[in-house]
Amino acid sequence: MRLVKQILLFILFSQILFANEYNYNLKPKKIAENTYVLIGKKEFFTVHNGGNISNTAFIITKEGVIVIDTGSSTKYGEQMIKAIKKITDKPIVSVINTHHHPDHFLGNSAFKDAEILATKYTKKDIEENGDLYIDNLMNLTYKWMQGTKVKAPNKELVELKNKYIKLGKHKLKVIYLDGHTSSDIALYDEYTKTLFASDLIFYNRIAATPHANIKNWIRALEDLRKVDFKVLVPGHGPIATDKKPFDQVKRYLIYLDKTLKDSAEEGLSVFEILQLPKPKEFANLAMIEDEFERSVINLYPKYENALME
Ligand SMILES: [Zn+2]
Repeated sequence: MRLVKQILLFILFSQILFANEYNYNLKPKKIAENTYVLIGKKEFFTVHNGGNISNTAFIITKEGVIVIDTGSSTKYGEQMIKAIKKITDKPIVSVINTHHHPDHFLGNSAFKDAEILATKYTKKDIEENGDLYIDNLMNLTYKWMQGTKVKAPNKELVELKNKYIKLGKHKLKVIYLDGHTSSDIALYDEYTKTLFASDLIFYNRIAATPHANIKNWIRALEDLRKVDFKVLVPGHGPIATDKKPFDQVKRYLIYLDKTLKDSAEEGLSVFEILQLPKPKEFANLAMIEDEFERSVINLYPKYENALME
């Protein structure tokens, strides 16, 4: 009898453990009328955070829900849908992927019936490299990725100026930019004056640059800065209501660019660059050591080559 009890207890505990495992604990935060965000952690992908490191959002309209980015796994997408269903019974009609990085689109496969919109470049990159991104995240987050499949966008955003996505009283302006990747879109809801800046803005967390073009990124920030927003949703980091995040990203990108240029001229090695002291204003931002190192390793060869041309 005691053994049976112990077995039953064991089953009960393992069920509780299993239920809590792989739970992103997504809590939508209302930031404007009908508008919610799910804030990710200011971290790199780990087995602990399961890739919940970027911000996603949704807007509830009379005609259905618009989702902006879907997180880094099918589990994230499924849990995002559950969180949305707790707030509204309106159907999810549109999903938008702001760019091709895996923490922004790998939840797509949970969205069975919605149209999935992205630019031509983003759609193509996801079609070509989606499986590679899954393999990479498998190594970093392990079982959180179980069941994740690539679902590429099925509708291209046409790259024309003044194009809007209209749903109910919300009118989303699609702003076509590049710099963080070769194709980034920001979305501006004219009704609530909310600007979804995608990964062109990292706030209080150092920018990731694996596919960056720093010059274009700085230009994109200057364009985006002119938008008359009330609320700013960065791709990573907390919500803002002022323009501080623009200055922070821009100053960091200028610092990174100058450090790499000067180092190439002085003939420094990657190891020597990593030993250089960091300016105070960036030293306390999340991910400074990791992202700076990744950026130096990725970008430095281009700066060295530029000197030889
Ligand atoms: Zn990104």
